[in-house]
Amino acid sequence: MTALTQTMGPSWDLSDEYESVDDPKIQVDLSELNDSLDKVGSLNVVLEQQNAVDAVAAAQALAKLSEQCERLLENVYVFANCLLSVNAQDEGAQKLNGSLQIYRKRLGDLFEPLAQYIDGASEEVIAQYLSDPEILPSAFLVKHSRQRRHENLSLAEESIVNGLSQSGIHAWGDLYDQLSGSLQCEVLVGNETQNMGVAQASALTMSADDDQRQCAWQAINDAWESQDESCAAAINAIAGWRLEMCEQRSGEREVHYLDAPVHMNRISRQTLDTLLEVAFDNKALAQRAAKLQARAYAKEGFGPWDNRAPAPIIGGGGIVPIAFNEAIDIIATAYGDIDPSMGAFVRMMADNKWVEGTVGPAKRPGAYCTGFTKSRHPRVYMTFSGGQSDVITLAHELGHAFHSWVMRDLPDSQLSYGMSLAETASTFGETLVRDALLAKSTSQQEKLDIMWEEMSALTSFMLNIPTRFEFEQNFFEARRKRPLRPQELKNMMSEAWQSWYGDALTEPDPMFWASKLHFYISGLSFYNFPYLFGYLFSLGVYARKDASGGRFYEQYVALLRDTGRMSAEDLAAKHLNVRLDEASFWQATIASLESRVDAFEQLLDEIDAG
Ligand SMILES: [Zn+2]
Repeated sequence: MTALTQTMGPSWDLSDEYESVDDPKIQVDLSELNDSLDKVGSLNVVLEQQNAVDAVAAAQALAKLSEQCERLLENVYVFANCLLSVNAQDEGAQKLNGSLQIYRKRLGDLFEPLAQYIDGASEEVIAQYLSDPEILPSAFLVKHSRQRRHENLSLAEESIVNGLSQSGIHAWGDLYDQLSGSLQCEVLVGNETQNMGVAQASALTMSADDDQRQCAWQAINDAWESQDESCAAAINAIAGWRLEMCEQRSGEREVHYLDAPVHMNRISRQTLDTLLEVAFDNKALAQRAAKLQARAYAKEGFGPWDNRAPAPIIGGGGIVPIAFNEAIDIIATAYGDIDPSMGAFVRMMADNKWVEGTVGPAKRPGAYCTGFTKSRHPRVYMTFSGGQSDVITLAHELGHAFHSWVMRDLPDSQLSYGMSLAETASTFGETLVRDALLAKSTSQQEKLDIMWEEMSALTSFMLNIPTRFEFEQNFFEARRKRPLRPQELKNMMSEAWQSWYGDALTEPDPMFWASKLHFYISGLSFYNFPYLFGYLFSLGVYARKDASGGRFYEQYVALLRDTGRMSAEDLAAKHLNVRLDEASFWQATIASLESRVDAFEQLLDEIDAG
């Protein structure tokens, strides 16, 4: 038996849901879905009629049908995706997945009139609509969606915008995806220059070899530089489209380019501004962490190619692989310290075979948590091969699973939450287990590995993410006047790096505006601040775990259960008794990180002392 098979995780069991792609239960669910979709057309006709009473009744019936259809479609979809994750070549799953696309499109088209009705209706009509006890749980979602109703154009205009966007803003996003998929670069690996795609080169920026990282980073930047006019055209067009849409939607009152991102994250502008101000005021702490990371590599300073560097190898005391069952024990014990039921939950996930942890060549990379919508039973997907980072990944995904588990009895309309709160339970679980691993680690290498991950998170969330935000904001402001030239984009990006990293950085990353995919996602903008928010918010919750007089678990579960039915501000006020639009919560959370940076420095001192 090899070390791999001893430590490898188990495969999951999906048979509670469906036995295989040929399971007749799939056809039963899909035909039920069809029957429900067939009822939508006639209700849509009633919805558009003048009789308000009939229309409200039709809207209520549509809302119930919509939930039912989503539940059926998602259940089959999750199954197909679980199979494809384990084996991307699974023909049956490919076909099943493909056949679901038609349902998804049909579902989207058929329920669009309901979404428009809810946004367009008067307050009285909405009150009537919500008077049905089965509809009432959706009150938050309805209210949240209606907050942006002043932005709506006429139905005809919306339809034109939607049609044009396919060959407009989305085409620029597609162009970028094409470029990043086909762009080649030359990287020196060992003594040999190799030609490779930028994604492959990007994996080399995670190498433990200093020169290798820098060399790969330089090659990637050279490649992007050769495409700087195309990238500039794309990024200018995407921002230009968004600014024009804000202008067009400003009929009733001014629409800002940050309105949509903060709304989507269910936070206020004031909260966003406060968060970034506090992060900026505390950048010295994160810079200190970056300088310590450079010191661990015996370097003068941190380069932009060091962002994803692994912990340096110091030798002296090897790493002992951790078997899957042992990992479950570690996590269950750490979770169980909060409350025995949290530990029991972890064991239940393993006992039920709800975790996929095998190592296999056809498996998709990455890790995620998903859930079946009919049974509300979660599943965790990953590749477990016995490393400490695997244990932490497992703890992270089990956090997501726990989050959905405590919400499993809630109405469908209260289950989804914004990205800002999505990582609360996962980061919490991860931090819990990281602290447990640290407490039981015996070698300096093990300690260094764990603390390194902590410092990397700190610098990437508190320096790199804000750098992206600052660039994007400055770019939108400048783009109001005219498109920017590649050189201007480079300068703007370098200034953003400088402003956050200061002297912790040997040089900026001027081509980051081109090499970072996030600036080219045509469906959403400012895909950066939610990471900073989620990181600090979850650590803020974590910091309270010992200070709630034995009532923490109860409060924690209550908080998680509310994530799908209130804004982040209301959630924090209710459960943490803090205001997210004021500095003190964020300030206290960042201050709690200082001792972790101190501990890292102390470890480096110990390593230096030999
Ligand atoms: Zn996560």
